[in-house]
Amino acid sequence: MADPVFERIAIVGVGLIGSSIARAAAEYGAAGSVALYDMSDDVRTRAAALGIGDVSETLADAVGAADCVILCVPVGALDEVAAATVPHMKAGAILTDVGSVKKQAAAALAAADNGKIHAIPGHPIAGTEQSGPEAGFPTLFRNAWHILTPREDGDEAYTDAVAKLAAFWTALGAKVETMEAARHDRVLAITSHLPHLIAFNIVATAFDMETVEQGEVVKYSAGGFRDFTRIAASDPVMWRDVFLNNKEAVLECLGRFSEDLAALQRAIRWGDGDMLMREFSRARTIRKAIIDAGQDSGAINFGRNEAVNGKAKS
Ligand code: NAP
Repeated sequence: MADPVFERIAIVGVGLIGSSIARAAAEYGAAGSVALYDMSDDVRTRAAALGIGDVSETLADAVGAADCVILCVPVGALDEVAAATVPHMKAGAILTDVGSVKKQAAAALAAADNGKIHAIPGHPIAGTEQSGPEAGFPTLFRNAWHILTPREDGDEAYTDAVAKLAAFWTALGAKVETMEAARHDRVLAITSHLPHLIAFNIVATAFDMETVEQGEVVKYSAGGFRDFTRIAASDPVMWRDVFLNNKEAVLECLGRFSEDLAALQRAIRWGDGDMLMREFSRARTIRKAIIDAGQDSGAINFGRNEAVNGKAKS
């Protein structure tokens, strides 16, 4: 195994993403040791029981000796957590995050920057609908994109720090890209944030209908609806913070989406089958492009295994 990229990393917020980084760093030898801190007593106890790193009782103890501190808390907590973290960090260490909205994360990290550390926002495009330290797994970042949104006016030491952080994520199996924060937020608004909003909304609509249909929505739930319920089972705190902090880009996408939906509604009303065929065929092409790019499985039934379909014995 190659030398670790960092002697010691510290993870603040030991949920799905934080605990996955801890597991991956150990599994792929990307860090010599991993310090963990979560503000919740319960999460610290559970993380200690999992044995995925050295759990500290205070933030200062966790981050003091780290070469790289990774904030894995909800986007809305980044301001407060970054400000509380930086005074305890050693000079020359890297401060990064995994928040799903990058303009807000960049502002939070920059506001906390005391000029002695290197603040480099980041976002792994990888996750599941689960939360908490038990939900993490070491292969989460393999073949997934990791977007870094570094400052453009950084000096040589900053550029070296960005390269080192990129090497760390590469060691975890990710494909690293750098991007401007505002661009990241526009792209993710359509590829991630809007799909989650639609999922939350369709499940809410079906839930309200269920009181009328008396359980039939659950009983006869088809594949399409079940896929939405999986996405809509994601952590409510995380997603509240995403929408509150990427307001402009999400509202812009939502406006376009509503117009396109109204056009489909009109086509259905007026029996315009040609229009429906055109739009559905275009969507199929995009699905094919995603599979060809290796971003998803083209296996029958989305590659779901039998256990997911409820056919497995265990
Ligand atoms: P999670 O499983 O809910 O974990 C977040 C952890 O942070 C929880 O243990 C939470 O404790 C803790 N926390 C909250 N506020 C804190 C604070 N002030 N100080 C210390 N710890 C604090 O969430 P997650 O899915 O790992 O998400 C973490 C970050 O990753 C978010 O910024 C999210 O946008 C980003 N992200 C998530 C995904 C995904 O698919 N889930 C993908 C990419 C990026 P409590 O439970 O006690 O509140």
